[in-house]
Amino acid sequence: MEIYTTPTGMQAQSLNWKRQGKRIGLVPTMGFLHEGHLSLMDIAAAHADLVVVSIFVNPTQFGPSEDLEAYPRNLERDLALCRERGVAAVFTPEPSDVYGPEYQSYVSLEKLPNHLCGLSRPVHFRGVATVVSKLFNIVLPDLAVFGEKDFQQLAVIRRLTADLNFPVRIMGGPIVREADGLAMSSRNAYLSPEERVSALCLSMALKHVASEVEKGERDVALLKASTEKIILSRPHTEIDYIAFCDPQTLEAVDSIGGPVLMALAVKVGSTRLIDNQVF
Ligand code: AMP
Repeated sequence: MEIYTTPTGMQAQSLNWKRQGKRIGLVPTMGFLHEGHLSLMDIAAAHADLVVVSIFVNPTQFGPSEDLEAYPRNLERDLALCRERGVAAVFTPEPSDVYGPEYQSYVSLEKLPNHLCGLSRPVHFRGVATVVSKLFNIVLPDLAVFGEKDFQQLAVIRRLTADLNFPVRIMGGPIVREADGLAMSSRNAYLSPEERVSALCLSMALKHVASEVEKGERDVALLKASTEKIILSRPHTEIDYIAFCDPQTLEAVDSIGGPVLMALAVKVGSTRLIDNQVF
């Protein structure tokens, strides 16, 4: 497995592979890898000749009061997991290699970031769209795989790829969960044992709403009220949003007609967790 720390080194290798006719699959991550990330590598491997994983805690997608410094890191372990999974190359640059001192170019979307996580994280999707555009130009992938856990991010990247004509196929991977239902996340490492129990309220609320919808409930106000009750019955929880929206536009809906995305963001202690399901 090759390890590249500079954009020019990575890009030269990718150009080499392309000249050999190899199809490159990219899995962008911020590291501290778990089974969710590994499942995306398997999807990439099934559709490409070789897999490149990027491990980069991207500073431009963190707001000034967010957890950039504290974000969990373990590069040695991540590299071992990638090696075991048959990854061809890991791209793991320093922030100064990605954003030089004169850096001033950003990619932002007009509408999709004005919902859900974009409301409480105003610079987040500009940072995501910028770094993913740069990764596409550096790694030159034929396809890139992103998790449905970050549903809004996947929607932003699909839009960005179409709008800017990147010749990259975007694939989504299903949410990978712990045995008790908690969606896997690098940020779960922040949870105390008591908070870890409270964190189950997100997947429990999604399950509860799924069964209510199954039974015929269509009123979003009622479904929101029961979700709020489930979440706030647990200690240390604070709701950022409970949203029911159109899975394409992310515009809010007030009843369940066609397919609807239910998305949750909840702070458990000081850790912000997200989860979602499409009904
Ligand atoms: P992150 O390292 O958190 O930025 O995530 C990197 C990629 O892994 C993103 O496309 C995420 O959506 C995806 N991902 C994170 N957690 C999960 C999960 N539990 N299941 C599936 N994909 C995930």
